[in-house]
Amino acid sequence: MPIFRSASATDIGKTRSANQDAMYAGEMLLIVADGMGGHAGGEVAAQSAVNELEAAFREQPTGKGLLAGTKVANREVFAHSETDEELHGMGTTLVAAALVPGRNGEKIALMNVGDSRAYLFEDGRLERLTEDHSLVEEMLRQGEITEAAAEVHPYRHVLTRAVGINERVEVDSWTLTPVVGTRLLLCSDGLTNECDDAVIAEILRENPDPADAASALIRRALDHGGNDNITAVVADIVAGENEPIEMPKRQEKAPRRERPPRAEKTPEIAPRAQPARIKGIGQQMVTFRVVLFSFILILVLAAAIGVTVWFDKATYFVGLDHNNVAIYNGRPGGLLWFQPTLVTETNLPLQQILPANRALVRSGMLETSYDAATKTVTNLRNELPAAVGAGQTTSPSAPHG
Ligand code: MN
Repeated sequence: MPIFRSASATDIGKTRSANQDAMYAGEMLLIVADGMGGHAGGEVAAQSAVNELEAAFREQPTGKGLLAGTKVANREVFAHSETDEELHGMGTTLVAAALVPGRNGEKIALMNVGDSRAYLFEDGRLERLTEDHSLVEEMLRQGEITEAAAEVHPYRHVLTRAVGINERVEVDSWTLTPVVGTRLLLCSDGLTNECDDAVIAEILRENPDPADAASALIRRALDHGGNDNITAVVADIVAGENEPIEMPKRQEKAPRRERPPRAEKTPEIAPRAQPARIKGIGQQMVTFRVVLFSFILILVLAAAIGVTVWFDKATYFVGLDHNNVAIYNGRPGGLLWFQPTLVTETNLPLQQILPANRALVRSGMLETSYDAATKTVTNLRNELPAAVGAGQTTSPSAPHG
């Protein structure tokens, strides 16, 4: 039976706050969680989701056990957030891979909720296994926006699914056949926001030892900016100790995704690329065509039909203060239960930024950190035509009381 030879690394990055990422790296199970919701909430949500899933899988080390454990983690985080006011509204992404018994030998069971990711690294090539449950990626999949637009989209941090924010959760789950000599990577968006797939593949190629690979990935993300908490779990699939070195290798080159039987009932957009979805019992499904109709409509529908759209990930935004660009803490327009507070004023009037960016600033450009917001202001300023930009200072004024 193959096992994982796994290692993990994590860093808080430039967030100057607690690590809201949590992970587990064992011989049979790998987990990464990226929490959100207030200062304490994200940390509590991520760590307890990892603990609950790990404990549940230890009790029931099967594919069913992994899925059931995810539901347990969801219920626990949700219940905790309902009883503790300081933790109210917390949630977390959750991605996991486990070696489990299958009908024809061992399988890798995978599950995912949110925008943390799992990758397969085989023969020097990196293949993303998960899809992000984020508004922007849903728009990308629908062909509504381009990849370039997605990277700077004001709502790029909005998740469409997370663990612990509702009584029920919709979970992607599917299986792969494990191949000795291949490698899995599970990571939070702190890595994938800073490093593209080519960079990640290069680091995995250059570091045969999983521990070296995990820490090299973190270092590269930090070098590139490290604007968020960063977590990487790297696991080589190796032969277990009680068996001959020559594991019967499968004939096919790439492991084929095998879907659970019920997946066939679920319509898929791209059959090869999309993992099967198992829906929560009684959970209402709303197509994203509806959601995309307009953002205002989303808010109305979200309230009306119970679609869970997660706004709490971004904590700063670049918006307007008396016609000048400004940095706020909170959400544009005081969405949900937060009222934004002005953090930094600038001397950059709206009329002096590129017309294309004015609507974005008016609606508020969400950022995960103050540093990221500052960077956005600098970018807006640098995009000025030279004649207009001359004589302007290049940094925002000091933080507001
Ligand atoms: Mn993150």
